[in-house]
Amino acid sequence: MSKLEYDFESYNRIKDGYELTQEDAYQLATNFRYTSNRLFETATQLRNKHKGDIVSFSKKAFFNIVNLCRDTCDYCTYKAEPNNAKLSLMNKKNVKDLAKLAKKYKCTEALFVTGESPEQKYQEAKDWLKLNGFSSTGEYLADCSEVVLNEGIFPHTNAGNLTKEEMKILRETNVSLGLMLENSSKRLRETGMPHHDAPSKEPATRINVLKNAGELKIPMTTGILVGIGETIYEVIDSIYAIKDIHKKFGNIQEIILQNFHPKKDTSMQEHKTPDTSYFKSIVALCRIIMPDMNIQIPPNLSQKNYHEFLSVGINDWGGISPITDDYVNPEFSWPQIKNVEKKCLEYKFKLKARFPVYPEFVSGISKELRDRIALIADEENYVREDYWK
Ligand code: SF4
Repeated sequence: MSKLEYDFESYNRIKDGYELTQEDAYQLATNFRYTSNRLFETATQLRNKHKGDIVSFSKKAFFNIVNLCRDTCDYCTYKAEPNNAKLSLMNKKNVKDLAKLAKKYKCTEALFVTGESPEQKYQEAKDWLKLNGFSSTGEYLADCSEVVLNEGIFPHTNAGNLTKEEMKILRETNVSLGLMLENSSKRLRETGMPHHDAPSKEPATRINVLKNAGELKIPMTTGILVGIGETIYEVIDSIYAIKDIHKKFGNIQEIILQNFHPKKDTSMQEHKTPDTSYFKSIVALCRIIMPDMNIQIPPNLSQKNYHEFLSVGINDWGGISPITDDYVNPEFSWPQIKNVEKKCLEYKFKLKARFPVYPEFVSGISKELRDRIALIADEENYVREDYWK
């Protein structure tokens, strides 16, 4: 079947396991306006079929290791310049202190974030690394990962386009790694588009990193930034690009669907955040394209109505921190975990804390990391409730 007419019968076929082709998805997207109820209902049923009544999250601390960045994306306020008040350069003592605090608050994830290869552009970054005894950000991250691991927190590094060699080293201490694809469209790198001054956002480069991680059997978190000037067809292409990698390597543990929010003092400050019903349709479409994938939306970026996404196919809230800001989106505070749990219950879902590696990927990580996880995991490889609550 090359073209689906989006009637009851077609949706029933999807529910029964018909694998949507890219052409089908385009066709479905052109009918969003008329089919949203059936789209949402289908996504919900697939979610329930593959994920049951569990919605997960990861209790985390955000380690803003270094926010200098070689690149410039038109929407970013995370990146700092060396003389900015918001410059963050965490030394090992800072890392250890935050890990201890995270442990006190029963966090299980240390999210390590950096700008893209800071040392390639900034002498300050080189000097700071040297002061700590390292020659690259990757090396430093590996060392910091050991520090937090020894405090009983599990590192998950999101440091841009790591080399295969860096990932190989990091997989010894990191239970998973993260790299947003953002979008697979090269158009977004053209002049006047949000990634024109961000070579690291070249889709082929990012896809290559995700594939390298696949060859190394590293569970990867990736995702799409929705609302930065892409078309719905480019969103669909991006989901299929991720699906292709996962089909080949089986290493994509989750897809984050992140809705863009304009930030003051950026060149995209007048750009609008995507309409909620459009964003919900994308979430539902992603579930239909990849029925058994873990699909996350960050609850702090849909503050007033994050719970609505429970009825369009998500099964994860990502990292929620009781102790640190979301430094990429500091204007959006995290919801209280107990409120997230309450909302889940209202929709008849059970909130469970996961590690930064999803339960079904735990068996693929090193024995040493598995053994550490086993100390505080339940029989399904979620964090034991009496540990995180
Ligand atoms: S690569 Fe990341 S840190 Fe650097 S400018 Fe883009 S979004 Fe900001």
